[in-house]
Amino acid sequence: MRCEICGKKIIGQPNTTKIDGSAMKVCENCSKFGKIQRPPSKPTHSIGQQGGVRKAKTPQRRPRRRETTYELLEDYNTIVRQAREKKGWSREDFGAKINEKVSVVTRIETGHMPPDIKLARKIEKIMGIVLIEKVEDTSSEEFKAGSLKGSTIGDIARIKK
Ligand SMILES: [Zn+2]
Repeated sequence: MRCEICGKKIIGQPNTTKIDGSAMKVCENCSKFGKIQRPPSKPTHSIGQQGGVRKAKTPQRRPRRRETTYELLEDYNTIVRQAREKKGWSREDFGAKINEKVSVVTRIETGHMPPDIKLARKIEKIMGIVLIEKVEDTSSEEFKAGSLKGSTIGDIARIKK
């Protein structure tokens, strides 16, 4: 293998350099005349990719506003009915205690009318039960995905227990 510019014998790997648009195999000395061609997969390309990833990551590091929402338990109606029956209250008794009509109590117990948070809180207090669960919404899918990725299978199994 000889240098395509100076004709000197190239020892080891020749440098591929681009001169006036054409790639040439040259010696180390001549490689400075052109632009050295690097394997397409390596440096320039991956630097570009890393830059892109870094840009995308920046917003994730910004503190996110966590929204705490309160959700009525799915079987609120059963919980209410069972708690009322346990106390030996009629629907009329219960309605009087929460200042609601019997029809409201009926609709709550049949699952036709989910109580709003205010009423649910009132029922919780009077009955000594839990109807509302606190849901911490990070409002970030990336956060959820990231924390899941960070967990080992053991962690996940522990969480499930
Ligand atoms: Zn040369």
